[in-house]
Amino acid sequence: MFESLQDRLGSILNGLTGRGALSEKDVSAALREVRRALLEADVALEVVRGFTDKVREQAVGAEVLKSIKPGQMVVKIVHDELVEMLGAEGVPIDLNAPAPVVVMMVGLQGSGKTTTSGKIAARLSLRDKKKTLMASLDTRRPAAQEQLRQLGEQTGIDTLPIVAGQSPTEIAARAVQAAKLGGHDVVILDTAGRTHIDEPLMVEMADIKAKANPHEILLVADALTGQDAVNLARNFDERVGITGLVLTRMDGDGRGGAALSMRAVTGKPIKLIGTGEKMDALEEFHPRRIADRILG
Ligand code: GDP
Repeated sequence: MFESLQDRLGSILNGLTGRGALSEKDVSAALREVRRALLEADVALEVVRGFTDKVREQAVGAEVLKSIKPGQMVVKIVHDELVEMLGAEGVPIDLNAPAPVVVMMVGLQGSGKTTTSGKIAARLSLRDKKKTLMASLDTRRPAAQEQLRQLGEQTGIDTLPIVAGQSPTEIAARAVQAAKLGGHDVVILDTAGRTHIDEPLMVEMADIKAKANPHEILLVADALTGQDAVNLARNFDERVGITGLVLTRMDGDGRGGAALSMRAVTGKPIKLIGTGEKMDALEEFHPRRIADRILG
């Protein structure tokens, strides 16, 4: 589909083998290709800029070795820098707080929030033996509440009974209270999304946060989010304050550039990735795999 970065850089740089150090000009030519590759992988433009600056610093003046082609050398620098920027792997959901630990899921409508809430609840409950309660705070779409209830039924995880007419903050308070009474270790709050970020959504998220005092706030985002990823992550982080990211639809064709964009603007760890519609399609984040995928 795409020419790999290695091939592109090979044709630009490999004639330089045995010619001392990479010059500013060689590196600039290579970085044009790096830029193209990252943009094709859907990394946001402002993140691409910062990234290529870092690669430039390391590549200019780097000795061209006999044992490795200059193209490969730059690909290695790019790959290492990508892995560094993508951050650590295997960062767990932090449950290190008095029970019930509240995990708040936020994100746009259709990002996979409800599905991911179910997946996380299933993992905590089945694998980690944590008694988990799920609650849908989506008062705008009754179907969303029903979807979570059904997920609970499928997986055998408790869901908060649906009461019509309550506000999201009232439901949040009721969920925490029910978890205390029910002896639950964890409460997962599946909040409402919108098709795009707007002020009422941000206010609603901030109100829920103030009421439920979540220990984790996870932003769920579709891996296919393109240039919008930066805005999305920045808004949720600045307005609500996220503690981590979950990328869904990593089973799709996307190259996963959104992972780099969102991590770069928030500095928050990518905790998990969604790899399918089923309840067990949730995996640890491996920065090397995403770096490979971004580079094609
Ligand atoms: P919400 O509006 O954010 O709560 O989104 P949903 O959880 O309802 O998910 C929207 C659609 O995306 C559903 O059809 C899910 O089955 C699907 N979905 C969620 N996560 C994944 C994933 O990781 N991979 C795939 N292929 N589909 C997913």
